[in-house]
Amino acid sequence: MRTPIVAGNWKMNKTISEARELVSEFVPLVKDMNAVEIVLCPPSPALLPVAALLEGTDIELGAQNMHWESGGAYTGELAPVMVKEFANFVILGHSERRAYFGETDETVNKKVKAAQNEGLMPIICVGESLEENQAGKTEDIVSGQIKAGLKDVGANLVIAYEPIWAIGTGLAATSEMANDTIKIIRSNLKELFGQEDAEKIRILYGGSVKGSNAAEYFSQSDIDGALVGGASLKADAFAEIVVAAQNEAVK
Ligand code: PEP
Repeated sequence: MRTPIVAGNWKMNKTISEARELVSEFVPLVKDMNAVEIVLCPPSPALLPVAALLEGTDIELGAQNMHWESGGAYTGELAPVMVKEFANFVILGHSERRAYFGETDETVNKKVKAAQNEGLMPIICVGESLEENQAGKTEDIVSGQIKAGLKDVGANLVIAYEPIWAIGTGLAATSEMANDTIKIIRSNLKELFGQEDAEKIRILYGGSVKGSNAAEYFSQSDIDGALVGGASLKADAFAEIVVAAQNEAVK
């Protein structure tokens, strides 16, 4: 049994006061959801204030990115040790980082190693573009990202399969489609880490997940939760997704 994870990626949204308001509304809505690991990934300035509000709850914190170096002259970056002061998770290789900030499988690989060295749980994002999907290249693209991004790393990680065409577009992949690709990812993980570890790794789906479609994803054999963008910005909408994960987990 893999404990599901529902992680909210707030992206570049929420000032500190808005973050406080969202968390204060959200926490009471999920107080009995003990079969789900809930992770909030606010923008960096909100990490400390959100950490303070989450004290005494089981809700965890994640950063949205970090550098692989342990410190030094890297203007604008966060070192793993700085993330670890507040958070247990870090999202790595999100498609927006790959598209707008030049991240590659090689830099993702360095970051995964740095995260694991620091005791952070990386959530590694992979996924194909619409053109790649339509050209029938999903398996090649996603398997390539997994093999290169996870070269020589440990099995302590989470994967998020996020078809780029489904992110923020309202065009969610069908739950069967997502599950099929996630099974391919799990077979890649078996090659890398062996059967036992691969069966333990949580693989999330991400891409226009909301309260109304979450249960469908969570009922699939290999989908172990969700990485949520837009719907994580509203307390009730995000809580609905957590409740769907909880209901599936206690079935
Ligand atoms: C994301 O950015 O990781 C994401 C899945 O976004 P959305 O839920 O808005 O599609």
